[in-house]
Amino acid sequence: MNMPATADSVLPARDRVQHYWKGLHVPIIATWSHETVIHPQVIRASYRGVWGIGYIDELEVADRRHGALWVRRAVARGKGVPALAGVHPMRQRQAMGHLLCQVCGNSTFDEHWQLWGERHLFLMRALEPGQVISEGETTDSPPVCLSCALESVETCPHIRQGWTAALVKDARPWGVAGVLHDPATLQPEMSPQKRLIERPFGHEEYAWINAARELVQLEGVTPVGLHELDAEARSAGIKITIASTDGG
Ligand SMILES: [Zn+2]
Repeated sequence: MNMPATADSVLPARDRVQHYWKGLHVPIIATWSHETVIHPQVIRASYRGVWGIGYIDELEVADRRHGALWVRRAVARGKGVPALAGVHPMRQRQAMGHLLCQVCGNSTFDEHWQLWGERHLFLMRALEPGQVISEGETTDSPPVCLSCALESVETCPHIRQGWTAALVKDARPWGVAGVLHDPATLQPEMSPQKRLIERPFGHEEYAWINAARELVQLEGVTPVGLHELDAEARSAGIKITIASTDGG
């Protein structure tokens, strides 16, 4: 599809300051208690000829991306208490859109990416033993750099219990996840499990989603072991630097 220009840019350096909480590295995509969700009035609107939801005071450059209407959430990283498993819509989108490490926020187009034949590392929680990331899988989980991956499997309560990793050639924009709104009543519709609803670009319900995550489809997927990658990087002489600047 034809992607409109976006206002997103790579995170400026000041936003890549690292935060720690009770000894844990707070991922850049995590939310903080001062980052309140804002609920503007939702209206029926035609955006570039497609009917869907809009905000009564919509600001295209901030509220739209790939035609979808995005959830508004305050930006106050480092303020208050972090929710380590929370996902900030804008920072998730920036990380996914630019393939930044979801933990430290640095680009994953790094020395390891070169060593791995221009591939990115994806790390996900495995719900059952033997689970692997599969070809063509869609995900809202941005990539990680090798040092954050190694750190996460040691310390992150969410990942530590079981994880699976893969090198991925391409992460193609696929669609969004968010809250679907009824075209007739404009009321939000929740799935039975209260999960976000995923819709690909071009889907008839796409314009009725209040988007909170950008999803990509993974192509050229090769499951890998992190410790093998670590050993390979070391023998290639690539130094692993753990981001250690504490911003608060
Ligand atoms: Zn990282």
